[in-house]
Amino acid sequence: KGVVVSLDQHGIHREMVSPASRKICSTLQEAGFTAYVVGGAVRDLIAGIEPKDFDIATSATPEQVRHLFRRSRIIGRRFRIVHVMSGPETIEVSTFRALHDDETVTDEHGRVLHDNVYGCIEDDATRRDFTVNALYYDPTSETVLDYHKGVADLKKKSMRVIGDPATRYREDPVRMLRAVRLAAKLGLKLDPAASKPIREMADLLHNVPAARLFDEMLKLLASGFAVVSVKRLRDEGLHHGLLPLLDVILEQPQGEKFVWLALENTDERVRSGKSISPGFLFACLLWHEVLANWTARKANKQHSQPALFEAMDEVLASQAEKLAITRRIAGDITEIWALQPRFEKRAGKAPFRLIEQPRYRAGYDFLRLRGESGEIDIELADWWDRFAHAHTDEREAMLVADK
Ligand code: ATP
Ligand code: MG
Repeated sequence: KGVVVSLDQHGIHREMVSPASRKICSTLQEAGFTAYVVGGAVRDLIAGIEPKDFDIATSATPEQVRHLFRRSRIIGRRFRIVHVMSGPETIEVSTFRALHDDETVTDEHGRVLHDNVYGCIEDDATRRDFTVNALYYDPTSETVLDYHKGVADLKKKSMRVIGDPATRYREDPVRMLRAVRLAAKLGLKLDPAASKPIREMADLLHNVPAARLFDEMLKLLASGFAVVSVKRLRDEGLHHGLLPLLDVILEQPQGEKFVWLALENTDERVRSGKSISPGFLFACLLWHEVLANWTARKANKQHSQPALFEAMDEVLASQAEKLAITRRIAGDITEIWALQPRFEKRAGKAPFRLIEQPRYRAGYDFLRLRGESGEIDIELADWWDRFAHAHTDEREAMLVADK
């Protein structure tokens, strides 16, 4: 049933896929297997977006793939795939997978727990989530195989679920989040049939392991489309109490402006190719909670510095588990917060030491957001910008006596 879409329709020249993915496809094909670049990369290329990575789907089993490539290893237990290293790239190669059958293991809510039976390409296409994700590109012939009218949907700017949306969301509730995230990134509208069940089924997200939800939310926040994605999540009715991270973003009595500015700032960074750190992001999301806690302690006559550290500990202790913040990320968050009072000291040796701090840049970016959101005078951030860029001998003259 697959339709062959030609180059003039899809526009993907073989130079547009990475050298490693081209080479791996042709090696597999020469060995008698079928192999395609699949999923997100094909979708993104047709939509005019630069793909993050190139995944391959093949008729070869993991062992057969492993034997064809010296630099490769089989990974994954729940679902085995092969990582093939070629030049600087690592490519994920997975074997076509079968559809679920009566023996498929699910939890009591219908969530599929295992699916690792190999199948034909047609089944592989049907078990993917959205029509725009079920496209197979062959770099050798420069054709796209399209089983679910995904190319047409991309051109119509419509995000459609393969099969019955309610069934597919029940199998894997994370698909509701993926629908929103990918539609936001691609500028697609959720098909009414895909959007309608989300409100009713949102509660199923409670049964998804916290770590997987966290990964998915991080992907969403780091997609370069965090602002639109979060708004769309809210509009689709993914209500309070489902996603701890979303709650933190949407429930900021004092820090609303700050959090949205931080998300805009993150989007800009990602879109201009810069890296973002989860530590910085979480430091932003939780800052106003720290501020409130810190202010209360100071009002209670606690000294500023110890009050801040106790506030930081308390906020992290109450949020870290809920948000699945790892110890390493917690360390990064703490560093950024702890630098903040040090920006207030603009006399003596302190400013010279501060700009030599390895985390100075992150601390400064954070300070600037605080200024832009109106929490502090932006003049302070401007001063540090000038100070950091000034000649060493000009810096002495810039120092400001403590008030
Ligand atoms: P991104 O741009 O974030 O990488 P992606 O669609 O490539 O988006 P991946 O998680 O890399 O997302 O998944 C690769 C492919 O695997 C998808 O394009 C889709 O075909 C399939 N897939 C991923 N997650 C699911 C899921 N939950 N259910 C069904 N198919 C999925
Ligand atoms: Mg991908």
